[in-house]
Amino acid sequence: MKGICILGATGSIGVSTLDVIKRHADQYKVIALTANTNIDVLFEQCLEFKPEYAVVVNTAKGAEFKAKIAGTVIADMTVLCGPEALVTVATLTSVNSVMAAIVGAAGLLSALAAAQAGKTVLLANKESLVMSGDIFMQAIKDSGAVLLPIDSEHNAIFQCMPANYTAGHDAPTARRILLTASGGPFRTTPLDELANVTVAQAVAHPKWDMGRKISVDSATMMNKGLELIEACLLFNMRPEQIQVVIHPQSIIHSMVDYVDGSVLAQMGNPDMRIPIAHAMAWPERFDSGVAPLDIFAVKQMDFEPADLQRFPCLRLAMEAISAGGIMPTVLNAANECAVESFLNEQIRFTDIPVVIERSMKKFSATQADTLEHILEADQQAREQAHLIIKELVV
Ligand code: NAD
Ligand code: MG
Repeated sequence: MKGICILGATGSIGVSTLDVIKRHADQYKVIALTANTNIDVLFEQCLEFKPEYAVVVNTAKGAEFKAKIAGTVIADMTVLCGPEALVTVATLTSVNSVMAAIVGAAGLLSALAAAQAGKTVLLANKESLVMSGDIFMQAIKDSGAVLLPIDSEHNAIFQCMPANYTAGHDAPTARRILLTASGGPFRTTPLDELANVTVAQAVAHPKWDMGRKISVDSATMMNKGLELIEACLLFNMRPEQIQVVIHPQSIIHSMVDYVDGSVLAQMGNPDMRIPIAHAMAWPERFDSGVAPLDIFAVKQMDFEPADLQRFPCLRLAMEAISAGGIMPTVLNAANECAVESFLNEQIRFTDIPVVIERSMKKFSATQADTLEHILEADQQAREQAHLIIKELVV
């Protein structure tokens, strides 16, 4: 029986993780569930899975949550509040696996704490890896933690890597990664219409049902940019070894090209329960609840290169990884601010790359060798991005 802590239990990945756990209650015991503000969903989850701990990061909501559980069957569950509580539950002795599924930089310290504590880290929160880079990977190596990618592309690549491959190591026979992308909702939208797309259009992803932030990232293709950086770190590859491929059907979730010319692909229906179940059962396999792939319904698979004119965010991510140092941290922070402003209808869709590019110009690629440097760069980049956003707000 493995103890699991789900950071970001109330989000899209958190909900899918609990759906997989439900099918394998003999193998996984839920020790802790965390939420930021969504106490109604957290309450229902706690009633069903009866964790020992629940974390509500927002203190006011936490007080409401404590009042809500009083007198119920979960009244004696420990409820913690504040961001430090995420670290507390991610490092409990009874926790073997940590699902890192908080969105954005808010997930960094808890994911990193799980890595340092030698847990099996199921990593969905790509932003934490992008911003902390080598520090995160070194923490995994130093503690002997097991790092399993949840992002569907990286999980696919991991499945296509040589037997016994572990994240962060060289795979000399794998010469290239083909990182697939759906192209998002605006793959064929006329370029002159992009400035006027609405939030509702941007979050309506054609293939995946996801949280709002990652849905906007998919529409700008910053998601693929973050994933390119994520892939370099997880698989010890240089950016030139990673080819972004637009594959609108989202049936192949990525491929690995070997030195002998063999190309291995992982396929399946676009449902995050597949990579979640893969990582949870690893190195075995178990049922994810996803219907078998109907290959005849797929009929056709298309592949095209990514257009950097249409998707400047992908170009900016490529520039950030090439520059190195703090630049991926700056890219991520500016993107988080820009996406939030777009979701709040303060700036236009096409302003997102403008905010990021102007923010990046304010920084040089100084070394990112301590967590303090990272947090400082993150903070400064947010300040710059907010100043730029202010100028753009109409
Ligand atoms: P979501 O918005 O649906 O859920 C986010 C979760 O994080 C919620 O539980 C929320 O309570 C929590 N959260 C938000 N802000 C927080 C804060 N400040 N402090 C603590 N907790 C906070 O997001 P999602 O779609 O589930 O994505 C989660 C992560 O997984 C992201 O990093 C995303 O890039 C990655 N990911 C998601 C998918 C997907 O299909 N949804 C696929 C690949 C990777
Ligand atoms: Mg992905």
